[in-house]
Formats: sequence, C-alpha cells, structure tokens
Amino acid sequence: MIEPAGAAELRGLYAALAQRYDSTGWWPARTRFEMMAGAILTQRTRWERAAAAARRLRRAGLLSPARLQQTSMTGLAALLRPCGDHRTRARRLLALARFVTEHGGLNSLARWSTAALRDALLEVAGIGPETADAILLYAFRRPVFVADAYALRLFGRSGWLGRVRLPSRYAPVHRAVNRIFGDDHRALAALHAVLVEHGKALCRSRPGCADCFLADRCRTGRRFNRRPAPGR
Ligand code: SF4
Repeated sequence: MIEPAGAAELRGLYAALAQRYDSTGWWPARTRFEMMAGAILTQRTRWERAAAAARRLRRAGLLSPARLQQTSMTGLAALLRPCGDHRTRARRLLALARFVTEHGGLNSLARWSTAALRDALLEVAGIGPETADAILLYAFRRPVFVADAYALRLFGRSGWLGRVRLPSRYAPVHRAVNRIFGDDHRALAALHAVLVEHGKALCRSRPGCADCFLADRCRTGRRFNRRPAPGR
C-alpha cells in the first residue's frame, strides 16, 4: 500500500528532474516497429551503440517484420555487431518480428488491451518485463512504468522506496508508479526518460551527490552533505 506522502514525494522528484532534463523526442524512432526493435537493441548496452546498430538496420531496409524474416541469421547478426551480443539480439529481433506477423501485424496488436499485449510480449523469447514495458510505453503509447536499473537505483538512494515500503524489485515498483501516475502516458514516458538521463549524468554507480540538484530531496544526498569536507 502506498502512503500519500510517497505519491507526493515521487511527483516532486519527477517535477525537479523534468525541469532539468528535456524528454522531448527522447526515444527517437521513425516507426512503431523501429521503437520495438530499439527496446531489444538497448538491452544491456549503451544507447549510442544501440543507435548505431539501428542505423545499420535502417540503411539495410530491415526495420520491418517482413524484411527481417527474409534475412539470414548470419547477415542480421553481422549488422548488429555494434551493440554486442549480436547473435542473441538477432535471434530476439527475429522472434519479435515473427510475433508481430503471427498476430496480424502492428495495427492488429495496437487494438489489444495493455494487459493482454504485455502478457503476449512476455512470451516472446528474450523479452522480459523491462523490454515489454518499454515497448508498451513508447511503441504503443500505453501508460506503464519502466522500472529499470536507473529508476530502482535512484528510488533506493533517495529513500522513496523506503517510504512506500517496497523491496527493490521490478514488479512492485512498476505497479506502485503505475498507480501514482494512472493513465498519464506522457508523464510516464517523460519520467522514464528523465530518470535515465539523471542516472547517466549524476546518479551513476558512483553517485555525484556533491553536484546533484536533488540532494535536498534525497536521503543519500542529505547524508553526503552532512559529511565533513575532506581534510577538515
Ligand atoms: S543526491 Fe546523490 S544519490 Fe541522490 S539522486 Fe543525486 S546523485 Fe543520486
């Protein structure tokens, strides 16, 4: 159960992050399928590497379910080299393309309920909750929260997870944030974007609390600021 302060605190964090980072056009892709493919390309790699692989696929004219399925596994894997794990990614992209085709195409899938589409995506090889939610959020514009590592890290460090008494695991955080933001797809898309940007800019594996504008709102930042400066 979420305490009211938890919702207000999260909205405050989001407002502060949204003032600092621009989330406009944050998931650049030209088509719905390109967005879906992007969710696989970005698994466990840097965005820049995934973007390089996406450019290669686009230049080869392969960013469609039909064209992907006409391509050899070896050829596809070679194009995906920039983002690493290229054979695994090739298999996953092909599985995604088959899934789209077998279910009547993207327009047909767009009519599914969010719950049904999420369940079906989770059945596709290589698609876990984070990838499924990124696809739902950006490719199908559904109001779902992507509780990725950046979000869990910031929520844990800031104390927000403690406030709502949730363990640091994907599903409860996903559900808790969904409840707070409800049907607000735009806010959920922007929230994910600014959390990622902050995780890359300051709240890295070694946090940059000394320079962080969230320090007053963050349990870790407040502790850091109480610490005496080195040499005192
Ligand atoms: S104050 Fe530190 S721990 Fe808190 S959000 Fe900023 S960088 Fe992360």
